[in-house]
Amino acid sequence: MAEQFDVTIIGSGPGGYVAAVRAGQLGLKVAIIEKEKDARLGGTCGLRGCIPTKALLNAAHLYQKAGEFEHFGLKVKDLSYDWSGVQKYKSDVVAKNAAGVTYLMKKNKVAVYNGFGKIAGPRLVFVNGSFAAKLSRLPDSGFTQGIAATAKSCSPGCASPYVTTILRRCRPSSGS
Ligand SMILES: Cc1cc2nc3c(=O)[nH]c(=O)nc-3n(C[C@H](O)[C@H](O)[C@H](O)COP(=O)(O)OP(=O)(O)OC[C@H]3O[C@@H](n4cnc5c(N)ncnc54)[C@H](O)[C@@H]3O)c2cc1C
Repeated sequence: MAEQFDVTIIGSGPGGYVAAVRAGQLGLKVAIIEKEKDARLGGTCGLRGCIPTKALLNAAHLYQKAGEFEHFGLKVKDLSYDWSGVQKYKSDVVAKNAAGVTYLMKKNKVAVYNGFGKIAGPRLVFVNGSFAAKLSRLPDSGFTQGIAATAKSCSPGCASPYVTTILRRCRPSSGS
């Protein structure tokens, strides 16, 4: 039996999850599909882009600052770093961010499907993986929105004429 949604979104990066939150806030019935293992949400930005790199930069910045402490009359004995500890800090930040996105989905009543989303026809989305049996069918009237927020990893299956919106969160020119 196919599940019915007003909006089905493929991809849980900043493009996808922000759209899901907004659609949920507007009272629509929303599904988001993410192929990442264990349905870790947040996309490239949250899992291996902006968030982890900024966590590492933060640690590097503190390390550099600690090396300048003497200038301020402060003393640090045997300054060094533990790379596995830095990696753990980075992984903790990533996990916290992914959990935050999961919480946002729950709060806005967005159904999360873990698997590969593929647009199979007009208003019909298949999900592979752990929810292979479930289909998502958008209703024929009212709100009928399919959103592909899959960034560069978009496969031929999601580059479909049936998608009404292609979201891509553009990198700001400042790069921040
Ligand atoms: C190292 C690095 C550092 C970055 N730093 C910054 C920064 O500091 N500031 C900034 O603004 N931007 C930064 N970016 C860019 C930022 O990550 C992207 O602009 C942003 O992630 C794009 O968001 P998106 O939602 O369009 O796509 P993504 O975040 O890539 O999300 C797409 C999601 O769709 C999923 N997906 C794809 N196809 C399917 C499918 N068929 N079925 C189910 N799921 C699917 C993917 O698994 C992924 O989770 C950085 C990127 C990198 C690589």
